[in-house]
Amino acid sequence: MAQTDPFALARRRMVEDQIARRGVRDRRLLAAMADIPRHLFVDEALWSQAYDDHPLSIGQGQTISQPYMVALMTEALGLTGREKVLEIGTGSGYQTAILARLADWVYSVERLPELSRRAQAVLEELGIFNLNLKVGDGTKGWPEHAPYDAIIVTAGAPQVPQPLTEQLAEGGRLVIPVGDRHVQTLLRITRRGDRLVREDLGGCRFVDLVGDHGW
Ligand code: SAH
Repeated sequence: MAQTDPFALARRRMVEDQIARRGVRDRRLLAAMADIPRHLFVDEALWSQAYDDHPLSIGQGQTISQPYMVALMTEALGLTGREKVLEIGTGSGYQTAILARLADWVYSVERLPELSRRAQAVLEELGIFNLNLKVGDGTKGWPEHAPYDAIIVTAGAPQVPQPLTEQLAEGGRLVIPVGDRHVQTLLRITRRGDRLVREDLGGCRFVDLVGDHGW
């Protein structure tokens, strides 16, 4: 008999109260977030807070993003299931798991080896295999697999790293927080031929994007 997940109810409430109620409509995304066990991506001491409406520490000065922020950014990518996605800032791997559920393949870069190792272990345990993780400076993108239909950056950048816009496919979307070290604006940048169309999706607050084209 399948074991009942003690957090299934908390997860459904999270989706209804924090995400659907705030206007996220993408049904595949809501289903993925109701299904993927977010608590497994944080330390066991934090399991009871894993479905709360805020970010949580994942060690090394980094955080797993607030569930609503994961939903908002993912919805902005407009995924249908066929996309090749690049993620910068694997962190806990939770956002990676959501992307892997909604797209065809995910490439994800993390600069801290310990976080990348842990994320890989959790993703494997959950049987999520349509992805490749790499340790390195994600501000340079991952040129070997470019172009990408969608790129998501889950750390705050001082400006949009040029390698990332260069690695966007035609019609591809880049979602990235840009600003100073305390507060950023979430931007969506869409490639239309040689033009980059920029939309402002609102204020946010992320840990630093550290690298050649970051802080
Ligand atoms: N999506 C993750 C967010 C983790 S916080 C989650 O929800 O768990 C942001 C992550 O970006 C941190 O793990 C940090 O180490 C990483 N990071 C910062 N600068 C980076 C860079 N240049 N390349 C890759 N990862 C970076």
